[in-house]
Amino acid sequence: MRYAPTIARLISELGKLPGIGGKSAQRLAFHILSMPEEKVRDLSDSIVLARESVRLCSVCQNYTDTDPCSVCDDPSRDRKTICVVENPRDVSTMERMREYRGLYHVLHGVYSPLQNVGLDSLKLKELITRLQKDNEIREVILATNQTAEGEATAMYIARLIKPSGIRVTRIASGLPMGSDLEFADDITLSKAMRARHEF
Ligand SMILES: [Zn+2]
Repeated sequence: MRYAPTIARLISELGKLPGIGGKSAQRLAFHILSMPEEKVRDLSDSIVLARESVRLCSVCQNYTDTDPCSVCDDPSRDRKTICVVENPRDVSTMERMREYRGLYHVLHGVYSPLQNVGLDSLKLKELITRLQKDNEIREVILATNQTAEGEATAMYIARLIKPSGIRVTRIASGLPMGSDLEFADDITLSKAMRARHEF
């Protein structure tokens, strides 16, 4: 064994995080071991506290530590529009743009049969129930990523909502095909939002 068991365990746990390969996990582990103990405690406390106190907003399903979240609870937001995104990171991306003033709905994934993600595991039922209960909603903007899975999911949701008479739009494909929302720069993203088209 190359490392003491406790170090090996730390490396193994860090290596389970997305985007962290074996080498990065080792580097992080040794960095943590070189940190003052109270800094390490701050780090581990912040992880545990975030995980324990953050839950899903009962309205939009975004991560929040208050329910409803600060966006759903903000009276200055345009309550007639819901932007549907794949994940909480996309909400941050849209907010960074500072142009969109409507509400959100986070799906927590996209329909992806190849990766065993069925429609049932998405927050779709929650969206439909929300639209049925809230008769202020006039438009649903589908802003899933422009990948095959994102397009298929958008198409499916559009078909589901259309009969209700609510306007359904899709963000324009100004974003490069196969790209994730979070990597779009603000100008491209706001162009894609403005040039959205009817489904
Ligand atoms: Zn919310």
